[in-house]
Amino acid sequence: MTQANIQNLHQSDELNEAQAAEVFERARAAARDLRKTTVAERVGELKKVLHRFYEMREEIMDRVCEENGKCRTDALVADIMGPLDFMEWLISDAEKILADEKAPTPLALMGKKSKIYHEPLGACLLITPWNYPVNNSMIFTMTGFIAGNAIVFKPSEHTPLKGLLEKIFDASPLIKNSVQVVYGSGTTAQHLIDQRPAKIFFTGSNRTGHKIMEQASKYLIPLELELGGKDPAIVFDDVDLKRTVAGVLWGAMTNTGQSCTSIEKLYIQYGIYEDFIAQLKAECEALVVNNADRGDADVGAMTARFQTDIVQRHLDDAVDKGAKVLCGGDLIDGKDGKFFLPTVLTDIPDDAALNHEETFGPLLPVYRFNTEDEVIDKANDTEFGLSASVWSKDLERADRVARALEVGAVSINNVMLTEGNPHLPFGGRKSSGFGRVHGPEGLLGWTASKAIIVDKQSDKLEANWYPFTIKKYTLLQKLISAAVIHNPILKILRIALAGLPLESHAQKPRD
Ligand code: NAD
Repeated sequence: MTQANIQNLHQSDELNEAQAAEVFERARAAARDLRKTTVAERVGELKKVLHRFYEMREEIMDRVCEENGKCRTDALVADIMGPLDFMEWLISDAEKILADEKAPTPLALMGKKSKIYHEPLGACLLITPWNYPVNNSMIFTMTGFIAGNAIVFKPSEHTPLKGLLEKIFDASPLIKNSVQVVYGSGTTAQHLIDQRPAKIFFTGSNRTGHKIMEQASKYLIPLELELGGKDPAIVFDDVDLKRTVAGVLWGAMTNTGQSCTSIEKLYIQYGIYEDFIAQLKAECEALVVNNADRGDADVGAMTARFQTDIVQRHLDDAVDKGAKVLCGGDLIDGKDGKFFLPTVLTDIPDDAALNHEETFGPLLPVYRFNTEDEVIDKANDTEFGLSASVWSKDLERADRVARALEVGAVSINNVMLTEGNPHLPFGGRKSSGFGRVHGPEGLLGWTASKAIIVDKQSDKLEANWYPFTIKKYTLLQKLISAAVIHNPILKILRIALAGLPLESHAQKPRD
């Protein structure tokens, strides 16, 4: 396919089967080219892209704010700072993480050398949602590329940012050739999955996660699923009120609450409940709700009508069943989108939908608790398990709670902070998905490990090769018995006593 054709194809809305096949043909050719490059060479290319990304930051923010509706500081922090930090980490750590590893060789395999190679997977498929359109796309594509993969990337149809990524990747011909951006909806994504990518990296809703897993299972395509969350914040009564209110409010409303790890449930210990919610109400009402701003708005617009509808449904349902609106609760039409006023709810009835379903909007339900055990049980009583925050001066208690929570990440006395550290893995448990992105584990997720063992080319025969004899069988039994001895000196002695005659017997020809 010519570049012009690809350009045209990318500008159309959906890909058909044949076009999807062509995209993967190109991706597989790119993957073959990439196999000839070293990690150091790829890091060199990433540096060019990082520089271009930094130079283009204002243009990137303009596009993100326009298509997503978020306020400018949200775009700066998540979609600019996040990828820059992450790319810096890849540049400094990738070579070390992807280097060949020496592995120990047990005594019974004496004389051999063991190694692990971390090899690229090939042509992979990346599918992302609309909430952090640049953060997700830059971090994932660059991680996959550094690991040596070609990537077919399908962004969300709600925030495609057409042409933007291509302009960033233009800084490196190798990266431009290795990452193809393909536009379209779920239909396009399904055609791409039918091309049997080496692995699928999906971030998005549970509903779509199920569909992708079902389709991928037909071909046994491995996949990583980063799905939704229902993240709790647990606030004990010994906290600094001002700082914790500020942190919790940000954690609930950042990106207009449209973050997989934003706080969806706030648990406050009885002793400070009244003071806490009074301050929370005051701070929440002070938030500046606007977008198309210059960095002076706190909370932007909702991105999509369907998401606004979910927030409205959760609010109406909870209020109908008896919840009280502490502040917010209104949907207002703005010049550049729909604005859901940051909303705090109290007195939540047990049967409210928002207790269990992901809301993904600026709606914060507050609950009270008495004891540590009680709040752990409540926080774990959800099908989701993405992340959580625990707030307390007592760090031992906070650590106990962090360990007891069935989630992939916990920030203590902070919120949504683990994903801000590229060294840490990120990913969920339970219905929040599986696999890890970020950190060494995330980078290695884009590789296949290959085990290598090297023996000498000599005339020596192995004891487990033919011929099998009664004597060999008896000596092998002795060797096995020696292997389960836990006293190290006795173990070596018994292995030698069985192993040396076994070695010598193995060299004898068949009688
Ligand atoms: P979504 O599942 O509707 O869409 C995500 C992507 O999947 C889009 O690119 C879409 O086109 C594609 N898609 C749709 N149908 C498909 C199909 N049948 N096969 C393959 N791909 C298909 O999600 P969304 O509304 O864009 O995003 C919001 C969701 O994403 C929330 O649930 C949120 O919690 C989750 N999310 C999770 C993380 C995380 O890291 N765990 C991060 C951000 C968002």
